[in-house]
Amino acid sequence: MFTERRTKLIEKMTAEADHPAAIFVSAREATRNSDVNYEFRQESSFYYLTGFDEPDSVALIRPGTEAPFVMFVRPHDPEMAIWVGPRVGIEGAVENYGADKAYPIEAIEEHLTELLSETETLYYPLGADEELDALILKQMTLRRQNAQRGPRALGDLRDPDPLIGEMRLRKSENEIASLTQAAVVTGQGFERAMRTTRSGLHEYEVQAAMESEFRRLGSRRNGYPSIVASAHDSCILHYTTNRKELVDGDLLLIDAGAEWEYYTADVTRTWPVNGQFTPEQRTIYDVVLRAQHAGIAAAQPNHRFDEIHEASVRVLVEGLTDLKILKGNIEQLIENDSYRPFYMHSTSHWLGMDVHDVGRYRNGEDSINLESGMCLTVEPGLYLDPKNENIPEAYRGIGIRIEDDILITLDGNKNLSSHIPSTPEEIEAIVGHLER
Ligand code: MG
Ligand code: ZN
Repeated sequence: MFTERRTKLIEKMTAEADHPAAIFVSAREATRNSDVNYEFRQESSFYYLTGFDEPDSVALIRPGTEAPFVMFVRPHDPEMAIWVGPRVGIEGAVENYGADKAYPIEAIEEHLTELLSETETLYYPLGADEELDALILKQMTLRRQNAQRGPRALGDLRDPDPLIGEMRLRKSENEIASLTQAAVVTGQGFERAMRTTRSGLHEYEVQAAMESEFRRLGSRRNGYPSIVASAHDSCILHYTTNRKELVDGDLLLIDAGAEWEYYTADVTRTWPVNGQFTPEQRTIYDVVLRAQHAGIAAAQPNHRFDEIHEASVRVLVEGLTDLKILKGNIEQLIENDSYRPFYMHSTSHWLGMDVHDVGRYRNGEDSINLESGMCLTVEPGLYLDPKNENIPEAYRGIGIRIEDDILITLDGNKNLSSHIPSTPEEIEAIVGHLER
């Protein structure tokens, strides 16, 4: 799998550059406090190409040479092994990760000159790592100084992100299987959260119920910090405080995703704390759900990415007009972005190893066309500011988002998270019902 990806990258590099090479750098360990580190997670593109999940590592890809895949890694260290367990090491990088050559990371500077001696175009995301940035600029300077005497300059520095972005945007069968499993595990957690919900509990208690299900089912971590927002805080898009007590009559919005094999789900559901929507909550909920269904229906191969947002916005604006929150001609209201105070984010983003995954959304001015294998969210919402006096009082403070994970297929799409309750009937049947 990783070999195939490197082969494909090599094809792309050689198609557009002379004597190319590419350098990818791992995530670094980051200090949390004292001698405690943050939990380590490998940088996504580095993992995508290597499957290697240790820090302080560099991958060098050199098409057309005797060693096309070189790794720099932390060597085996018997002392450290006692404390934190064994490292893959130099031999392991060759034997288990397919490196043609591997060296200790400490020796990168002394090998880089030789390894890049034939390279004219270097793919490296300048700014990715200060130390490596400095090494690479030094290489380029050296080669420029020597260029008069024979060897050609290493003069062309390019960003590899567009190439990798194109690859990661189109998911393989393996990746689709991981995304599917991430959605399955996430769904189990959401069901647990819905069943657990009742007034008097705290946001964090519902979060704990959901995330313990994620962990129990084998998800190693979340794709991003869970948003567990009750009452007016459901209008705050990235609320992660999650400390309030749940109050009878309020809504609870949860936006969360379990990670599976480095791929994350990204799901949002909104439900009443007491299991029963008020008429006003239900009215807004129905508008958002209709907008979401319209957005999902627009997620089709050979259609523009923007059509999803356009379809959802139209339904939201129609709904806001029916409720007299907006007044005027629908086309005009859409044209003027007059819905922005109530719907301030876009409807979709790519989904994959990163929750907001890599890949372009447009070519120049134009929205890109959807293709089978692309995976995205559809997540319309309405956020009715509690302090906005243009909103009828009964609706103020209601915040609702509904988000699913959609895979584009050859003949339409597949909703990977459709098993998670989202109709008002499904939600009212499950919230607060702990027994199965
Ligand atoms: Mg989300
Ligand atoms: Zn999202």
